[in-house]
Amino acid sequence: MKLQKPKGTQDILPGESRKWQFVEARAREIFGRYRFEEIRTPHFEHYEVISRSVGDTTDIVSKEMYDFYDKGDRHITLRPEGTAPVVRSYVENKLFAPEVQKPVKLFYMGSMFRYERPQAGRLREFHQIGVEAFGSSNPATDVEVIAMAADFFRELGLTGIRLHLNSLGTPQVRATYRQALIDYLLPHKESLSADSQRRLEENPLRVLDSKEKADQALVEGAPSILDYLDEESQAHLDQVRSLLDALGIDYVMDPRMVRGLDYYNHTIFEFITEVKGADLTVCAGGRYDGLVTYFGGPETPGFGFGLGVERLLLLLDKQGVELPGLPALDVYVATLGAEKSNKLKNPYDFSDTDDLSDSTSKEVKVNQAATLLVQSLRRQGLTAEREYLNRKLKAQFKAADQFQAKTLITLGESELESGRVTVKNNATRAQMEVALSDLEQDAAAVVARVLALGDD
Ligand code: ATP
Ligand code: MG
Repeated sequence: MKLQKPKGTQDILPGESRKWQFVEARAREIFGRYRFEEIRTPHFEHYEVISRSVGDTTDIVSKEMYDFYDKGDRHITLRPEGTAPVVRSYVENKLFAPEVQKPVKLFYMGSMFRYERPQAGRLREFHQIGVEAFGSSNPATDVEVIAMAADFFRELGLTGIRLHLNSLGTPQVRATYRQALIDYLLPHKESLSADSQRRLEENPLRVLDSKEKADQALVEGAPSILDYLDEESQAHLDQVRSLLDALGIDYVMDPRMVRGLDYYNHTIFEFITEVKGADLTVCAGGRYDGLVTYFGGPETPGFGFGLGVERLLLLLDKQGVELPGLPALDVYVATLGAEKSNKLKNPYDFSDTDDLSDSTSKEVKVNQAATLLVQSLRRQGLTAEREYLNRKLKAQFKAADQFQAKTLITLGESELESGRVTVKNNATRAQMEVALSDLEQDAAAVVARVLALGDD
């Protein structure tokens, strides 16, 4: 077996992880304005928590689960999505209790696992940012959650993301529509893909979601669920639409849109964008008013979405959105005196300092002084880095430039003797001499003064 990462997973390396942190920080900030709070649930759950709530016949449960029996013979699955675990937690922790402020607004960020065929924007371990709001059947909740996702995209600088909206109505509406769809599809059964023939038996609404060309042509002519909405469902949809209009949020009605999960009713939505001529869903969600009772809680409406972080980053990249880089370094400490004798003993080995030759003991002192200095700077809240490799000064200065160091201090034997160092403005090359003790007392003030040098 090769010692490589499993298929469909990825290592998020420095540089890349910075982008993730940026996106996550924006989400936290924006969701915070709407008073959503973070919830963290386990990465694995009892199989049944997912299987029946998401739907036994959905692709997620029937094909994509990472499930196994643990050493105690419990049927466990890595979580493939965030909503069912959050609802489980909501009920288990009695967040429905009257003393908990309603609606309960939660968000999560983390890994999800699905056994899929890996391709661009489709992994086996992927990441979702998701939100769930419990306890409000007000269409304003639907719209606020949709608006929050739109804010997030807009503030990240993304454009061209279309909002698709549909209603699945009440469970009764859905049952009536289900029959109408069967009546429409059954005569054409033979021309459906094998998958869709199976779906027709098990879960006919899922045929609408088929990505097969052959199915799609038939789906075009299928009856629209919007023609089957009852008064209540129609009223809910009308309010959602007029609130979206009032907020100036554009959307298209997409009556063939269903979700890959069975628990939705009333409003469902997706944010879709085009990548290389193909539609890619970045964010998807809707209303799930029956899920809390399914988990044994009191009747409680719910509304939420899940957003694929990899797809979001793919888009940011495609649209050339610039994300902030690593912040510049406040101070780089270069060391002088050791670089001539590169092949010396380990500079961290203080075991027999008495025996050290003169030059080695100087080197050890400079090394220690550099460590004391950067530690003092860091404790004072500055970002500081130092030389560790005893390189020639030229290489050290190059390193400082790579760190975008704002200031530079060179430490050598003479500096240790005098207790004074030169702090250089790395941009203007202007410099200033200060006592090491000044740096220890108020490094920020010293740095500020050096940065002001050459400004006039
Ligand atoms: P798709 O139709 O693309 O398979 P889905 O209906 O399975 O999506 P959801 O279960 O609604 O997707 O998940 C919400 C979001 O999570 C998706 O819109 C997408 O951005 C992301 N997502 C889903 N599956 C994956 C995956 N395997 N890899 C990366 N992101 C994913
Ligand atoms: Mg899927």
